[in-house]
Amino acid sequence: MKQIRSIEQLSLKGKKVLLRVDFNVPIDPKGNITDDSRLKASLPSIQYILDQGGAVILMSHLGRPEGKNDPKYSLKPCAKRLESLIGLPVRLAPDCIGPAVQELANTLKPGQILLLENLRFHDGEEHPEKDPSFVKQLASLGEVYINDAFGTAHRAHASTAEIARYFPDKAAAGFLMEKEVRFLGETLLNPKRPFYAIVGGAKISTKIGVLESLLKKADALLIGGGMAYTFFKAQGIPIGQSIHEDAFLSKAQEIMTYAKKQNIRLLLPEDIVITDSPASPSYSKVVSISEGIPEAAQGVDIGPKTIKLFTSLIKDSATILWNGPLGVFETDEFAKGTFAIAQAVADSSATSIVGGGDSLAALQKSHLSGHVTHLSTGGGASLEYIESGTLPGIEALCQASSSPMHVEGNEKNRSDK
Ligand code: AMP
Repeated sequence: MKQIRSIEQLSLKGKKVLLRVDFNVPIDPKGNITDDSRLKASLPSIQYILDQGGAVILMSHLGRPEGKNDPKYSLKPCAKRLESLIGLPVRLAPDCIGPAVQELANTLKPGQILLLENLRFHDGEEHPEKDPSFVKQLASLGEVYINDAFGTAHRAHASTAEIARYFPDKAAAGFLMEKEVRFLGETLLNPKRPFYAIVGGAKISTKIGVLESLLKKADALLIGGGMAYTFFKAQGIPIGQSIHEDAFLSKAQEIMTYAKKQNIRLLLPEDIVITDSPASPSYSKVVSISEGIPEAAQGVDIGPKTIKLFTSLIKDSATILWNGPLGVFETDEFAKGTFAIAQAVADSSATSIVGGGDSLAALQKSHLSGHVTHLSTGGGASLEYIESGTLPGIEALCQASSSPMHVEGNEKNRSDK
């Protein structure tokens, strides 16, 4: 387990605390935030800093403005929503660096909140090597650095990794980051067995690293969604028009051979719901995979036999990891598999970790989010963390945490929050 310092181990009283958060929220064309769960997830760390007598300087990115100041990607809606969530004024800076921002930071008082404008308005955020002065200017705004943006920790950007070097004994993980590292790290490093992983989603290519890593950790790997068809095609099973990736046929074969050799159960769907068009179906029916899929049809969900098999395994597991929908769940007709898995995971008494935006959305839609042990907020970050056991943002905190701690007056002991 990586040793990173906790926010609770630093003295924050009277300090200006630079807090990297993930406010990359969905915003509709009218400028309304359509899902504020990322803002809500940052509240415990913000509140803690305020309670400890610190001032909060929030940093985040939003969308992909590609190094340019584009009002479309302003964090203004986040400042407004955060104000109503926390019940305190949130001042939005005109930029994230520069003399005006430095002045705002200099005059910030304990108990106050300043939100810096979108970090990605500057090239130096995503490409710290191109503009080393960017991270220096950011760091100069605060006295303590806390990273609570797990969802961006797989990026070696200025605010997520580089900046930690400027705070050798004053950098730590926020509550959200700690929780993710604890659950994904500890639970999956030493899972209670049997440990079953359910992986769905459109493509095998985006999850290949995770599949390979889970094969070494899990007792069974249950595969659904679009990626199953690359495995079927690799076995010579007709897949009709189903989504697949020819470039990954040999990789799929390699994975199946490895699982067989190592005696790991690799379970693919036994039956499939097929249709002519996922968006506007004129029919849908269940076929057994041994029959193959007719040339003009495509597979869009797991069938009832597979649902039964997967849910019975979930029931017997002690640890479950679920990432990715089992079918084209955006169309109600093809969402049965995904919702059945959501229900089974929620019903299970196992330690359950669910990641990926679509799986979280399915749980939320069925009002089951409260029934899983851990909802992992960072899609790409959690997959990369499972795959490699660390992330650039976590490494940066580890390095900053390995330097001797500068102990001050009211240092608190770490509680197991
Ligand atoms: P990912 O981002 O890789 O987790 O993929 C999520 C997407 O996979 C969702 O938009 C689903 O509609 C899609 N998906 C799942 N199963 C299938 C399938 N059988 N055919 C096509 N797309 C699928």
